[in-house]
Amino acid sequence: MADTLAGLRARAAMGAYRRAHASVNLAALERNCARMRRELRDGAALCAVVKADGYGHGALPSARAALAGGASWLAVADAREALELREGGLTEVPILVMGPLEEGELEQALGAGADVVIWREDQLGAVIQAGGGRVHVKLDTGMGRLGTRERGQAADVLAAARSASGVVLAGLMTHFATADERDDEGFFEQQLQEFTSWAAPLKREHPQLILHAANSAAVLRAPEAHFDMVRCGISIYGMDPFGVDAIERELEPVLELSSYVAEVKACGPRQSAGYGRTFRASEDTAIALLPIGYGDGWRRALSNNGEVLIAGARYPMAGTVSMDSITVEVGAAGLEAGLRGERAQLIGADGSERISAEDVARRIGTINYEVTCGLTRRVPRTYHRDGTAVAEPPPG
Ligand SMILES: *Cc1c(COP(=O)(O)O)cnc(C)c1O
Repeated sequence: MADTLAGLRARAAMGAYRRAHASVNLAALERNCARMRRELRDGAALCAVVKADGYGHGALPSARAALAGGASWLAVADAREALELREGGLTEVPILVMGPLEEGELEQALGAGADVVIWREDQLGAVIQAGGGRVHVKLDTGMGRLGTRERGQAADVLAAARSASGVVLAGLMTHFATADERDDEGFFEQQLQEFTSWAAPLKREHPQLILHAANSAAVLRAPEAHFDMVRCGISIYGMDPFGVDAIERELEPVLELSSYVAEVKACGPRQSAGYGRTFRASEDTAIALLPIGYGDGWRRALSNNGEVLIAGARYPMAGTVSMDSITVEVGAAGLEAGLRGERAQLIGADGSERISAEDVARRIGTINYEVTCGLTRRVPRTYHRDGTAVAEPPPG
């Protein structure tokens, strides 16, 4: 029975790849890391940020490709994400857990041999309690989230960390709020200046400290922000940190999202497609049905507000996005062309046409990050290197 089920599952998965499927090019991810590394000032290390399941691309395969592309650190948001990397066989690489950690989580993170971020003495106490570990002290220079705004508090934590047994003071960090906004009234430079004036003298005193501040946008914007390490997420996945066009920034999109045309049917005047009849034909046209919907992460805000590529041509979404399907107006010509069975590209290129995560984000007033992070568990991810399939061990 188990055999039969496994066999069925394998075949079902192959079928499911057609309905809503994300294809991830690990060679492109690798090259994006190499490209970001070339940008770095001498000696600065690349930390690949693989939180949120590698921005929806799959944390483990993304992490492996990033390391192959020259990253020497990994960063995640929580302890479970760090454990997943360790369990996946990445036992040696340094991992930074960037988020706040409650007791149990802190033990998990330190137990996994990950570095953690602190800014209060009670957090240091918890690290000591948990048996010690490597800590990075975070100054809040203007993001207004994690870290302390008080240099006095940071100094107290630093002093206490230095004299605590079992605690290694590994790094000093901050995070920029507006690195991706050119029109930020000098806020980025102000944060950079504040971090530099705090961290640089400490670095002179303690040369082993790793100073890190830059996300992808900051790397491209200001070499002075590179310090000893940079934390890049969005760029390694081949998306533009500034939300415009990755290819212009010499980054290669890594993920393609596809589906297929399961049905094509004529739609006459006054006939409609989808819930609420929000699309109504005004003349003879045809509607293609693609089995991908908001249950896969193709957002409902794209209703009557998006495009897909079918057989190298661009067609508008027509009607409301459902949980499991969308409808696309392909016109009478589309009906004649016999599009049924054709592959449809929702993110990616087809012939000379291309739809980027940035294009999708712009349509619905969000950012490229949210587009790929929003792809749900129902969407199988498969991996390839420039078109050659690579087998990835299934997660957990
Ligand atoms: C997510 C995150 C990053 C990565 O930012 P990108 O814009 O994706 O490069 C860097 N630092 C911190 C603290 C983060 O939370």
